[in-house]
Amino acid sequence: MNYISTRNKALKLTSSEAIKKGLSDDGGLFVPESFPRLKKSDIESLTGKSYIERANFILGKFLTDFTKEEIEECTVGAYGGGRFSSEKVAPLVKLDDSAYVLELWHGPTCAFKDMALQILPRFMTTAMKKTGEDKTVVILVATSGDTGKAALEGFRDVDGTKIVVFYPSDGVSDMQKLQMITQEGGNVCVEGIRGNFDDAQTGVKKIFTNEKIIKELADNGFVFSSANSINWGRLVPQIVYYVSAYCDMVEGGEIENGDMINICVPTGNFGNILAAYYAKKMGLPVNKFICASNRNDVLTDFIRTGVYDKNREFYQSISPSMDILISSNLERLLFDVCGKDDNKIKDLMDKLSRDGKYSLTKTMHNRIGKLFWAGCCDDYFTKVRIWKTFAENGYTPDTHTAVALDVYKQYLEQTGDMTKTVIASTASPFKFANSVLSALGVEPYGYDDFQQLVLLSEKTDMDIPESLAGLSGKDVRFNEVISSNDMYGSIKRVLDIK
Ligand SMILES: *Cc1c(COP(=O)(O)O)cnc(C)c1O
Repeated sequence: MNYISTRNKALKLTSSEAIKKGLSDDGGLFVPESFPRLKKSDIESLTGKSYIERANFILGKFLTDFTKEEIEECTVGAYGGGRFSSEKVAPLVKLDDSAYVLELWHGPTCAFKDMALQILPRFMTTAMKKTGEDKTVVILVATSGDTGKAALEGFRDVDGTKIVVFYPSDGVSDMQKLQMITQEGGNVCVEGIRGNFDDAQTGVKKIFTNEKIIKELADNGFVFSSANSINWGRLVPQIVYYVSAYCDMVEGGEIENGDMINICVPTGNFGNILAAYYAKKMGLPVNKFICASNRNDVLTDFIRTGVYDKNREFYQSISPSMDILISSNLERLLFDVCGKDDNKIKDLMDKLSRDGKYSLTKTMHNRIGKLFWAGCCDDYFTKVRIWKTFAENGYTPDTHTAVALDVYKQYLEQTGDMTKTVIASTASPFKFANSVLSALGVEPYGYDDFQQLVLLSEKTDMDIPESLAGLSGKDVRFNEVISSNDMYGSIKRVLDIK
């Protein structure tokens, strides 16, 4: 199967090439030329199988230039060997008659980014071998908090790679920052940026598509790639857990094979929810995608009106991984709903970078409106939802998951649709202990980050994730904060390019 760019569909690459490159030279994103089919009988045969077996099956359909053995090596390395604290890797927890929480945070950094970033480096090194790449791959990451740590952890000391992570210095939680600035590994670098996530992401994209920079790098033996969800290798592993959740529901007798489900996702860059949409394109029976945003509600307005307008105030919220005004992966959905019209996409994306705004055609908006429902939830209601879920269901969601739970309740109230719904839970509550504690009525003020973990564990009877407790006492290795104009400068310093 080939991959094409959303801004040039004449360009055709293998999956190895698409994963190695990350972003197309034309600024577009790689998408599969067509979608493999997932039949009812496939789902039948995947129930009763392990997560790794399910992953082998789904990934094999997309990464057609990888051998079976290569894919297995990647999945076993990523999801086996006790790297995930749950044997199921992505367990599904039933909250009530219609709501099921899909816990995606049992990996080494306690956020759902591990689901993809534990396997992406393995795809990448395999892809480098297959394409005969002899340059060192430099992974550039812009992070709103969780991607950075998960990518650092995934790529640390991986041969033939270096990784540079940029995060908004005042836009991540204390725990997120501590996770990154104490990162170990000989090939890693972490830089704070004065600015927000969009500044970091825009900066990275500019560097990626700057021909002069690309040439300078190549002359020095380096080639860029991306670990952000613009990379196809980030998205494809995320399709697996939606299929896996469906299989678990069939296996547990919650639904019959063939029944429709809904999927609700706390959304930032639109990667996670897009993976769910791709699962449906393969044939997974999904009725509605519920797109949940925090106070940065650009996607809510977009799905409701068909107008994307990022010209609005940017808010820092208690769900920082969703503090985003430019959702990159939307481009992939648009490409799909406009009938793969690459010129149309170029036109819309030009408008976005010129005016910060674009409008969909009626047809495109109707197609999106049929499948997607959107809502948002501010910090106050996020905390109320944490408290209510704890009190009513005995379950403690993190701040991001709480946004999704709240928007799901709004959906239920407005539509009465009782279709069983999978709600993506994207982080461990311990990662945002401060906000979760205060939502539960425990005053965190006066306690340091690690004391807060203990308080939360006492309040909820949950175990503290070892990887967070273990940060205590680690040395800070990276405390530089730079201007977003100096991002390439810092890359050159790291790579020792004069
Ligand atoms: C990254 C992240 C999100 C947003 O996911 P997207 O794929 O960018 O939409 C939501 N919650 C958490 C905890 C995250 O780390």
